[in-house]
Amino acid sequence: MGIEQTLLPSPEAWLSRRRPDDPVFFFCPVRLAQVTERFRRGFPGLVTYAVKANPAPEMLDGLVAAGIRAFDVASPAEMALVRAHCPDAVLHYHNPVRSEAEIDAGLAHGCVSWSVDRMRELEKLSRLPKGTEIAVRLKLPVTGAAYDFGAKFGAEPRLAQELLERVVEMGFVPSLTFHPGTQCRTPEPWARYIQAAAEIARAAGVTLHRLNVGGGFPSDRGEGHPDLDAIFRTIAETTRAAFDVPPRLVCEPGRGLCAEAFLLALRVKAVEDAAVFLNDGIYGGMAEWRDLGPMGRLRVVTPEGLPRGGAFRGRIVFGPTCDSLDRLPDPVALPEGIREDDFIVFEGMGAYSRALVTGFNGYGARRIIRMTTAC
Ligand SMILES: *Cc1c(COP(=O)(O)O)cnc(C)c1O
Repeated sequence: MGIEQTLLPSPEAWLSRRRPDDPVFFFCPVRLAQVTERFRRGFPGLVTYAVKANPAPEMLDGLVAAGIRAFDVASPAEMALVRAHCPDAVLHYHNPVRSEAEIDAGLAHGCVSWSVDRMRELEKLSRLPKGTEIAVRLKLPVTGAAYDFGAKFGAEPRLAQELLERVVEMGFVPSLTFHPGTQCRTPEPWARYIQAAAEIARAAGVTLHRLNVGGGFPSDRGEGHPDLDAIFRTIAETTRAAFDVPPRLVCEPGRGLCAEAFLLALRVKAVEDAAVFLNDGIYGGMAEWRDLGPMGRLRVVTPEGLPRGGAFRGRIVFGPTCDSLDRLPDPVALPEGIREDDFIVFEGMGAYSRALVTGFNGYGARRIIRMTTAC
């Protein structure tokens, strides 16, 4: 992806001057620094970043500049990427299923924490140095997330207990980890998971070194500002109350850290009464909208960079490719007056957007514009 810096004061100013026909991301380091600061001040433990949510070089550099030094990585390529941007980074290898070659890579990159959720994968880690932290990944049936992360990874409480006992037997440092599911808008899932973690540790007779409370921290997708402080408070209070010896806390947000840092600007290719055609869709920056629904924080801008008025009304949105699946699942509310060649600027578009651009049919954002002012 190409990156270009602009001194212009707003995305609108850049769009009206350049009139791009391709979709472009705007990267806003000022917002990234603000959000990172919010996590670092508010979260009662170590803040790490889940790289998969947005591995853009400028994202990693921005996080390092804002003081993040620990990263959740899932593959050798992510390890190498993080090391290139932060040579002394602390790496947590939290993909619980690994090939032998991937274990070699994790060792070579000096990963300090490894997650597991099944016995066979734990046995494969027996060649790790004694004293390595192994975090057993727990899953519970949970509601409240946009979609369920326990569907693929995680050990149910009984197995989690057995894994924890075996971790200690093998001479490793025992921790627990979980992921409550992405875009969790209320604190309850964290409270339930932390209580379950305390019960499992107690049943196993193990004092946890650390408890990693995952990602899942919500971003604002148009339903209003999520109350991150309430989530942080619940995490701190539940941990204090549930454990005799409270473990140190770690979190690994992806979305929560990166969503606000990017805006996505699209161009309107065609307007019909019931539908609009845009220059990006589900094979590009809007890939996760199939699961999460459309992003509600948008503004429509004329080619001159002015706000496009009119009452909002739902229209079907088609992407640019020749695939009939390239259509957003729900109508998007757009101003009545929207015209061909207008731009739509979506805010809060840093998570699972740029990371999922496929280039299918020759489309997809290839440029990031770095804003020097707040945007
Ligand atoms: C994807 C992932 C995260 C980040 O999830 P968000 O919902 O984006 O915060 C954190 N931890 C693990 C293990 C993950 O796989």
